[in-house]
Amino acid sequence: KLVSREFKEEDTVVRIGDHVELGGKAIPIIAGPCAVEGREVLDEIADALHGLGVPMLRGGAFKPRTSPYSFQGLGELALKYMSDVRERTGMPIVTEVMDPRDLLLVHKYADVLQIGTRNMQNFRLLTEVGQVDKPVILKRGMSATIKEFLMSAEYIVSHGNEKVILCERGIRTFESETRNTLDLSAVPLLKKLTHLPVIVDPSHALGRTDLIPAMSCAAVAAGADGLMLEVHVRPQEALSDGAQSLTPQAMADLLQKLEPVARAV
Ligand code: PEP
Ligand code: MN
Repeated sequence: KLVSREFKEEDTVVRIGDHVELGGKAIPIIAGPCAVEGREVLDEIADALHGLGVPMLRGGAFKPRTSPYSFQGLGELALKYMSDVRERTGMPIVTEVMDPRDLLLVHKYADVLQIGTRNMQNFRLLTEVGQVDKPVILKRGMSATIKEFLMSAEYIVSHGNEKVILCERGIRTFESETRNTLDLSAVPLLKKLTHLPVIVDPSHALGRTDLIPAMSCAAVAAGADGLMLEVHVRPQEALSDGAQSLTPQAMADLLQKLEPVARAV
């Protein structure tokens, strides 16, 4: 398999923009709102994160919502707001592509394409993003085994795109105190089986903010190459995933907590 350590021994380092690397020495943070809700609120969030030195911005334009009546995202408008933030701050932007029909549009604006948990085995979508020249964050399916996860990455790489970043975002178990169960053993296991970078998204794994600092530190200690975190300036007003969204202040506190852990690994 192209993604296996046997095929390629050294770590793949995925470069994003001019300054960010995933899979190298640094452990970059990708943060931002679950969904882009409007220009002003996005700018507030992005400026706060930029001020904290967070190198990359995330934000959903096309949202895979469980209910068709929930906020579905602003589509192209959201992509425009995100790329304006990139122009202003230099932060590369990460956003989900849900459907092959949206790929051209998302590709025009985004620096990194995200494949969500619900699409990890959308093989047509994987094949399409395998044929573009942009990095892809592939999130683990909520009920996917490690083998299935790696085979989905293989779809992308085998179609020509080697810039794949794996993201552990929690799996479904019987436990209901947390939204999902963060499978941290996936991190050292994946690092052993594949040369691709592995990042962790504690926000979607936990579904609540109080456990995020501890599990972010644990993810870094386990060998994660980066973290993805949801941040909102007014989480209680967020149109999606407010309960798991950190405030900029909580993000600042988390960065302080992470520093000695990141230095130790
Ligand atoms: C997201 O990152 O906004 C998202 C929807 O995540 P997941 O696909 O992991 O649920
Ligand atoms: Mn979300």
